[in-house]
Amino acid sequence: MSIEHNIPNYFRVKIESDHCKKCKRCVSHCSYGALSFNNEKIISDDSKCVACNRCASMCPGKAIKIVKDESCLPPHGNYSRRIRNIIWAQSGTGGVLLSATGNDRPIRNIFDDLLLDACQVTNPSIDPLRETIETKVFFGRKPQKLDFTTDPIDPNKISLKTEFLPHFEIDMPLMVGHMSLGSISYNACMAIYQAVNELNILAGSGEGGLHPDFYEYGKNIITEVASGRFGVDIKYLQNTVGLEIKIGQGAKPGHGGHLPGEKVNSMISQTRMIPKGSDALSPYPHHDIYSIEDLAQLISALKEATRYKVPIGVKIAAVHNSAPIAVGIVRGGADFISIDGFRGGTGAAPRIIRDHAGIPIELAIASVDQRLRQEGLRDQVTLVAGGSIRYSADLIKAIALGADVGMVGMPVLIALGCRVCQQCFRGLCSWGIATQKPYLVKRLDIDVARNRIINLFHAWNEELKEILGAMGIDSIESLRSNRDRLRYIGPNPRIADILNVKHAGE
Ligand code: SF4
Ligand code: SF4
Repeated sequence: MSIEHNIPNYFRVKIESDHCKKCKRCVSHCSYGALSFNNEKIISDDSKCVACNRCASMCPGKAIKIVKDESCLPPHGNYSRRIRNIIWAQSGTGGVLLSATGNDRPIRNIFDDLLLDACQVTNPSIDPLRETIETKVFFGRKPQKLDFTTDPIDPNKISLKTEFLPHFEIDMPLMVGHMSLGSISYNACMAIYQAVNELNILAGSGEGGLHPDFYEYGKNIITEVASGRFGVDIKYLQNTVGLEIKIGQGAKPGHGGHLPGEKVNSMISQTRMIPKGSDALSPYPHHDIYSIEDLAQLISALKEATRYKVPIGVKIAAVHNSAPIAVGIVRGGADFISIDGFRGGTGAAPRIIRDHAGIPIELAIASVDQRLRQEGLRDQVTLVAGGSIRYSADLIKAIALGADVGMVGMPVLIALGCRVCQQCFRGLCSWGIATQKPYLVKRLDIDVARNRIINLFHAWNEELKEILGAMGIDSIESLRSNRDRLRYIGPNPRIADILNVKHAGE
């Protein structure tokens, strides 16, 4: 027996035979090949189980439970089970380990160490049921000041003279982060685009081009121009509401995109303009960008290609020097900047990068916002922050730290049924989300999925209004960079300094 066969599994499939109807439904639903039917019994190969919970959810007799494997390894404070498993996996395959979703190391989340202020006595709160609280956001470059003209005949008639640079309005400070067709299924993409269209918020296309069926939702889609230039043609550039040059991604800073060949079927190959079955690996850097000047040139070329009609942005991963880079990006002509923290999601990334590179979004957004203010540039751009915005509380804290818009990925997938099994890169997602296999894709009902996203964001927006009301703030724009309404309760005062947030009690 090989060493691998003696390694304890993470999970066990427990089947209560009294409740099992022997319908074999679980076998057909397990896309990871962990279940079979033999001798009138369901047999599980626990080494293949990823705890996606599909079998348990589909079992009509509720006979299945996925449990943590109880067989334990000898304890060791340094060589945790996780590290031992990494070593065993690599000594078995000799390869770089891939992973998906976001960084799963239990690193302290700074959002959890921040508390929001609320009104008492001297500063009245606002009742969102009876008074208006605005959650609209203007996206793109904003004019430095507004000029007006007065009618020479009727001096009471004043009109706006300032020409607005490309920008638009969204109804909530929310963008679904870039998830390409390829990394997720057609049905998942369609549900996301229909939902953002209905809510008038935004979604990113990812770097996989845009399927012709999605063009009708273009007024809510920001398309991505990444180093691989997959699917980029003039139609792609001119039919969306904004363009984003992807320099980096929180889950894999300094790394290119990776769509494993198993996911590149004919639809993906046509949309990305690459051969079927080939790995879609975009280069680590853009080979035409080695300086801010080069980046400015691409920004200007894209503005030209889109006839100056849509905002052009740049996405970077949150790293140590995000603040000076952001300054360069604004001076290079970008209308918006997206910053993706080290917990940001991914469909496929080397585990070593996902788990160990980058910095938390909370620190990056606060330092970028402060630096842009010092340089007098903050009001020229929209700042989008993502990479661990899990629920409305994180969103509102990100805005108070300096973001205009929160970028959200995993919560959307979880709303669609994702169990965060971290297996997206294998293309076998049993919930029809991160897969291209037709028999799995059809498990995700587009209408149900769209409505769940709409519900989720509707709930967040209501919660935003609730908390803004409690803080006595009547618009989300007035909360932006309003650090005085945050207090820190974590263990490290240095973090509070970098965030420029006072400690609770101060
Ligand atoms: S369906 Fe998922 S949870 Fe069930 S046995 Fe297969 S991999 Fe494990
Ligand atoms: S999208 Fe699917 S494969 Fe990826 S983590 Fe979620 S359930 Fe697992």
